[in-house]
Amino acid sequence: MPTAEIGVFGGSGFYSLVPDLEQIEVDTPYGAPSDSLAIGEIEGRKVAFMARHNRAHTIPPHKINYRANLWAFKSLGVTRVLAPCAAGSLKPYIHPGHFVVCDQFIDRTRARNDTFFDGPQVTHVSAADPYCPELRRLATTTGAAAGLTMHPNGTMVVIEGPRFSTRAESAFHSSQGWDAVSMTQYPEVTLARELQMCFSGIALITDYDSGIDEIAPVSAAEVVRVFGESNERLRRLLVSLIVQIPKDRGCECGNSLAGATLSNQQPEEA
Ligand SMILES: [Zn+2]
Repeated sequence: MPTAEIGVFGGSGFYSLVPDLEQIEVDTPYGAPSDSLAIGEIEGRKVAFMARHNRAHTIPPHKINYRANLWAFKSLGVTRVLAPCAAGSLKPYIHPGHFVVCDQFIDRTRARNDTFFDGPQVTHVSAADPYCPELRRLATTTGAAAGLTMHPNGTMVVIEGPRFSTRAESAFHSSQGWDAVSMTQYPEVTLARELQMCFSGIALITDYDSGIDEIAPVSAAEVVRVFGESNERLRRLLVSLIVQIPKDRGCECGNSLAGATLSNQQPEEA
């Protein structure tokens, strides 16, 4: 079985990282992941790439087997996950073509398998700081150095989909101070955390959701059009980021299960 240290998800409109990677099939206890994984090296770093909607874009956000996808990365040895996604802006100063490097999320999904801990082992992982701070800093500085507009933090509200928001929902999300809206960051980020992997949510803004006057509400065609325009910039950002990720982790993500499990603990002896 090949191994990889860095896992990269491809989102809407982003289906390959570098050419000529070897495709492998990975099965998991949770079923098949979204697609085969492309495995290879980028300047000496072992990388696995997976299109989360499948390369043929056949799996909508609410039908993605998130547990299988994260488990597949983990089974290859991945410790860092880079998760670009398409997102709508909820702020007037965050424009299409910008990148938001998420540091918080709001979960407004409702029908997803979002934990590996369904019992009998009862585990409550902390989600206070769900995104890896080391990868967030590195993504921000790498993108800025390449001339991209990077927002170094942001709260991503994740909706169930597959429909987009109503104008009222979008106005509500915006009024809460949240920055961007997407459909796939949750439960990807917390499942990665349950597997003690670092997770970086890099959102490429493709539209203004439904919330800005005079601008037509988002459509799927518009998302794919803007993503297509920015595809190469995103690919280059990811490749430069991969090369710069320190071999050893300088964060606490690898200890996210410490103290999180309640069951199977023996009572202290009197
Ligand atoms: Zn980390």
